[in-house]
Amino acid sequence: MKKNYLLTPGPTPLPPEVSLAMAKPIIHHRTPQFQEILKEASQGLKWAFQTANDVFIISSSGTGAMEAAVANLLSCGDTALVVQGGKFGERWTEICRAYGIGAEVIDVEWGKAVDPEEIGRRLKANPQIKVVFTTLCETSTGVDNDIRSIAAVVKDTSAVLAVDAISGLGAVDLKTDEWGVDVVVSGSQKGLMLPPGLGFICLSGRAWKLVESCKGSRYYLDLRKAKKALDKNDTPFTSSITLIIALNESLKIMKQDGLENIFKRHRTMADAARAAMKALGLELFAPGAASDGVTAAKVPAGVDGEKLVKTMRDTYGVTIAGGQAELKGKVIRIAHMGFITESDIVMCIACLEKVLVQMGYKFNLGAGVKAAEEVFLK
Ligand SMILES: *Cc1c(COP(=O)(O)O)cnc(C)c1O
Repeated sequence: MKKNYLLTPGPTPLPPEVSLAMAKPIIHHRTPQFQEILKEASQGLKWAFQTANDVFIISSSGTGAMEAAVANLLSCGDTALVVQGGKFGERWTEICRAYGIGAEVIDVEWGKAVDPEEIGRRLKANPQIKVVFTTLCETSTGVDNDIRSIAAVVKDTSAVLAVDAISGLGAVDLKTDEWGVDVVVSGSQKGLMLPPGLGFICLSGRAWKLVESCKGSRYYLDLRKAKKALDKNDTPFTSSITLIIALNESLKIMKQDGLENIFKRHRTMADAARAAMKALGLELFAPGAASDGVTAAKVPAGVDGEKLVKTMRDTYGVTIAGGQAELKGKVIRIAHMGFITESDIVMCIACLEKVLVQMGYKFNLGAGVKAAEEVFLK
């Protein structure tokens, strides 16, 4: 017998209420019944995104919402600035280039956050830049960027700021309107406690000016069509009915908690995970900018990182993430976002310790669990 636990930075576990909502019989999307559901979802999303602007729901994974941002804001030949400090920053560059958009890159060392002043310098040096693309939680390295400071820099220029908050939203604070973030994209399977399959995007008035002047081709991801439909409580194509019903369930749970409590819970779990890594002698990968949504730690010398993750998953049913791209086998990533609680963290660290012992790594057994518990007891 095996019980499975999911502590990856997407997908994340589902609250039982969310799973049950998806078991109901399907309804038709062009009906007043579904319009009510969509209206509730739209209002709930505005709350979660901390914006008064419309949040559009796209039937796609998070990357679809990223592509919608690029395809609607910029045309072939335009210039964008991309903050690239991990695999997901790189994705912005790749999407831009696929659309013939010149992507100027700020290469940030993996494990570090971008210096907002560098964005300011680059914008000053090249006034052609129309959009700055960055990432709230760079899931591949476990870094949170300082979006508030970045927004303060970009606000004084003619450029528009677009943030990939796919894994950050619902885990880390992002005051979209208050900070002046123009575009936020997210996805369903991270902090929002849903299965994969929904992308989200909201845009400021400044960003809509770019959408309206954009000459690039787009069809499924045309946000002008999405806006026209949403104004009538509708979507341009068949809605992901089941996932939107589930979204209302997860938003209900989030609202009961309140955003402040949600962010506090994530911070505490992150503190506990970080304390545990230190106690085990595992170096944090991003000590200066560690994310509250996911903790990345270096695999100690002499331990096979890929085998560690595989044994935890296949022998003990505890799924964490390994490293991506150049970090393959070199880091482990433990998610503490969405429907993950204190007890999950304690259990995960206990399992990590057990497998580390089995792999011959020397440390004080129980030290990680103790360090985490001490944070939770505070
Ligand atoms: C997961 C993730 C993505 C990719 O989302 P998909 O749903 O797999 O398309 C993009 N950016 C960040 C920061 C992520 O964490």
